[in-house]
Amino acid sequence: MLSRLSSPQNETQNEEGKIDDNPHRRRLVGHRNERGLHRVMVAAARAAETASDNPLIRDEFAGILTGTPELMDLLTRMASIFQSDPQNEAIYRHMVDYQAARTHFFDRFFADAAAAGIRQHVILAAGLDSRAYRLGWPDGTTVYEVDLPKVLEYKSATLAAHGAQPTATRREVAGDLRYDWPRALRDNGFDPNQRTAWLAEGLLLFLPGPAQDRMFEDIVSLSAPGSRIALEVWAIDEQAKQAIERQRERAEELRERLGDNVFDPGDLWYQDDERSDPAEWFATRGWRTQSVPGRDYLAKLGRPLPEQANEEPLIIGTFVTAASPR
Ligand code: SAM
Repeated sequence: MLSRLSSPQNETQNEEGKIDDNPHRRRLVGHRNERGLHRVMVAAARAAETASDNPLIRDEFAGILTGTPELMDLLTRMASIFQSDPQNEAIYRHMVDYQAARTHFFDRFFADAAAAGIRQHVILAAGLDSRAYRLGWPDGTTVYEVDLPKVLEYKSATLAAHGAQPTATRREVAGDLRYDWPRALRDNGFDPNQRTAWLAEGLLLFLPGPAQDRMFEDIVSLSAPGSRIALEVWAIDEQAKQAIERQRERAEELRERLGDNVFDPGDLWYQDDERSDPAEWFATRGWRTQSVPGRDYLAKLGRPLPEQANEEPLIIGTFVTAASPR
């Protein structure tokens, strides 16, 4: 949970207000900046992992992107909240481990795709992802980053101010993934006849189920044979529902202590039961899929989850990859 503060990447009221059809979430939109905080939280976790003793990943840019004065203030408050309570501290530790593991998994996905000769990569909802700057891309690689315009502008301006240069051709695609983003992608030079590696990390629950399916349809129609995709999938099963409910209760408790200045990550997630299962969705269209539970991947990396510390239910994603028919 994070304090709510404005950040340079805030979305506009109209943009936020347009999307919402969830009664719980409706109370939050129009004047809050939760999506901005989600991506700050992810980057902050990558920065914390990078600064740790034996990091699973190195993202030197995450610290730059979260090091602006406003965000430093946010992160300082966040640290004080987490340190104030051992259970919050355990949740924070888990969050950093999980973000590090998922980043590690998807870094490998791109490295494998590049090794297989794929030179066109699309990061959907790129947020503060710095892969276009930090991975060792082969010559001739183009990385497209799709997100809302202010997010992309903030990232490129902040990194440019620190002299950072992308390690591939980086193309910003300002668009909303619920609408006509494929046109913006093509207008920026994307070639549907070339094999592509796609990534949707930390995205799917921000899309209503039907918008998720539409985005998948678009991806399939833009994918030349031999393309690949990687997805972070959060199944909203009973355990996840309990975890979200517990998270909400804790956010309420903290709001009592800190005023209306506490962020609950679940507030912006679409928890629609009819959402399709992404692995199944791609499998039924002939893509070869593999699923790795985040829990197993964490254990493989030597960061096993705590044994349900203090009976706190945890929300753990699954990392799904799929390869299109040739
Ligand atoms: N994938 C990035 C990462 O792992 O660092 C960012 C994850 S962040 C939790 C979620 C991102 O999704 C935010 O940057 C937000 O702007 C973006 N996002 C959410 N809904 C979107 C939409 N409808 N269209 C485009 N971007 C969206």
